[in-house]
Amino acid sequence: MAKTKYIMHDCAYCHKMTKMELVGEMLKEGDESPSQKVWYRCTRCKHSALLDKQNLVQTKRGDAIKIDRSSCTTYSKELVYAVGQMIYHLEWDDVGKVVAKRKTSDGTQSITVSFEKLGERRLIENLAPSIEPKIAEIIPAQL
Ligand SMILES: [Zn+2]
Repeated sequence: MAKTKYIMHDCAYCHKMTKMELVGEMLKEGDESPSQKVWYRCTRCKHSALLDKQNLVQTKRGDAIKIDRSSCTTYSKELVYAVGQMIYHLEWDDVGKVVAKRKTSDGTQSITVSFEKLGERRLIENLAPSIEPKIAEIIPAQL
């Protein structure tokens, strides 16, 4: 069993990259497939975090960085995103990856984002900055 015991990961408590120690896998009862979630404990603040093994494997350099916040685009409902793009949600203070895009019947475009802390969330994209209808009656300013 040659498992990496330590990884570098953005700790949700420290709000920075910290060294994390593998504590164990989360086993689901009645599920025969191997668990995709593993527990890691921050060596700095000692908080445990449940991390997705799939995302950790994806990194090439072996440093197991999940999402680098500096490479994320800050989310704004007026922008358009692509599947696979990393975004940062300022209000929620969470980073996520765009996993799907869809257009609703009323023409609204939305993206499904898999956030690190919050999980999957639907967000609006490509919203016109001003969709207010033109004012029919123009009230004259001072004459
Ligand atoms: Zn920590």
